[in-house]
Amino acid sequence: MPQIEASQIEYVDVLVIGGGVAGIAIAEFLARHSNLSIKVIEKSAQLGNLASGKLEGWFHTGALYSGQDDAQTFINCVNGVEDLINLYTSYFKGRCNINLEEKQKDFFTPKIQTHPQGWFNDQPVYIIHPQTDAPEIQLSHLKSDAVQINIQRNRVLGRLEVAYGKQHNWKNGNHCIAPIYAQIENYEGLNCSLIDSSETVRNLCRQFDASYGMKLTNYDIIQTLDSSMNTSNILRDLVVSSLAQGVTFETGVTIDKLLMDRYGPIRIKSLLCHTEKGLPKRLKAKLFIFAVGEGFTPFLSDLQVRARLKKSRSAMVVAYPALVDTNFVRMSTKNRFHFNHFIQQREQGENKIIYSMLADSGYAIDGGNDELDIEPILDSAERYFGKNELYNRQLFSYECVKTEFISEEEQKRRYSYWIESNPQSNYLCVLPGKFSFFPTVAFQAYQRIKTLIDFDDCSPPVCFEPNNSLKQQAVALVADSYPLQILSHSSSI
Ligand SMILES: Cc1cc2nc3c(=O)[nH]c(=O)nc-3n(C[C@H](O)[C@H](O)[C@H](O)COP(=O)(O)OP(=O)(O)OC[C@H]3O[C@@H](n4cnc5c(N)ncnc54)[C@H](O)[C@@H]3O)c2cc1C
Repeated sequence: MPQIEASQIEYVDVLVIGGGVAGIAIAEFLARHSNLSIKVIEKSAQLGNLASGKLEGWFHTGALYSGQDDAQTFINCVNGVEDLINLYTSYFKGRCNINLEEKQKDFFTPKIQTHPQGWFNDQPVYIIHPQTDAPEIQLSHLKSDAVQINIQRNRVLGRLEVAYGKQHNWKNGNHCIAPIYAQIENYEGLNCSLIDSSETVRNLCRQFDASYGMKLTNYDIIQTLDSSMNTSNILRDLVVSSLAQGVTFETGVTIDKLLMDRYGPIRIKSLLCHTEKGLPKRLKAKLFIFAVGEGFTPFLSDLQVRARLKKSRSAMVVAYPALVDTNFVRMSTKNRFHFNHFIQQREQGENKIIYSMLADSGYAIDGGNDELDIEPILDSAERYFGKNELYNRQLFSYECVKTEFISEEEQKRRYSYWIESNPQSNYLCVLPGKFSFFPTVAFQAYQRIKTLIDFDDCSPPVCFEPNNSLKQQAVALVADSYPLQILSHSSSI
């Protein structure tokens, strides 16, 4: 007689599909502000195993986008700082270690504070902005390059000064308020109070210029609010807080099929799944939230997603031990001169592991024939640090898939978050674009969820109080960051 397998049926108010930063942050924020029953399912054995664990760990407050023609991505980053301070700092006390600081009497700007378990490293990121005598301009045959670099320089200095210098007071009563688009776009001053000649960075620039046979050229070195972030700490704290509010997590779940109701507005009836042990399961919910990153492709047609997805591959190099103790980024109008160096610190048992992440924003279209080339990263690193310093280290490279949406009208990469829903449907699709956007994504998704299902806001707990049992559960649930996994498997540490 054929065996009949019973299928478990489970019902929750909100089912989040995908345990990267987007899914976890949305579940956490919603749980903190409602009494809804919430479950997160993840197909891997652990949470945070894909893009949210493989990234460079750059906390973006806008510097990288300050030179762009369109200021929208810069504004998104600046607004992200406001959301972080208003919605996370006092609840995750100490751990979300960014707050307003009185720079001058009654004048406040955001500042990262030192804290051993803090999400953000208190070492700033220095932007190196070249001027017209820089190698990339001198070695170029195009006269327009000098004009371009000056346009970019003016934007970078002006926008960063308005956002984080002496132009905008972020404190308004008890609230943190970021500058608005018009303030940023209308400012024309060129004096940037954030210019800061860090000796280490100047020496790196000196070595870089010397590698082209030049004496030190002119650079603007700008101290930004950007920093490196400890993404595993962030994910684990968000998971601890979620567990404390009753969110359940299940890993190793495979979705076999979406059962859709196609009469009237498209709605999801159930997800047919298999558990980690291979047992069939039917998941039902009032609302389904898809936060599956690069895993969107199989669902696009059922969910009738309007945006066009673009996947690209980026490479990074991990150097251990760290090359220097400073985070720096070279901005350039020439792609091959882009370069980032980030310091990351992770604790493993008694050990503190400090390594460098090297990248250059280069990418290749996923599925295309383009080879991802790490030689430009190595070439820049040789120029800044010298061959001996670089190749004395343990070096590893790996690739990671970036998933973004592209607007239909302009084929530009937007680096922005994306939240799509249909008012009559019972699902929401989310792509954060950047890990750093998680506070905004969680808050905006929460606002959207309120329009899709009925629930009462509850007053959120004042402070996050982790207990050991929840902490241990979170450590088991969330994967170590990918570079740490690589280093742990090598014999070096
Ligand atoms: C090379 C690179 C460097 C980056 N550097 C930075 C940086 O320095 N700073 C920054 O802010 N951002 C950075 N980003 C962007 C950032 O990594 C992503 O925007 C962010 O992590 C995406 O989060 P996510 O939750 O959408 O996706 P993911 O982290 O990929 O999470 C999606 C989850 O969904 C799960 N999933 C997929 N399909 C299913 C399914 N069918 N069922 C259940 N679960 C499923 C996946 O297993 C995964 O765990 C970088 C990205 C790349 C590629």
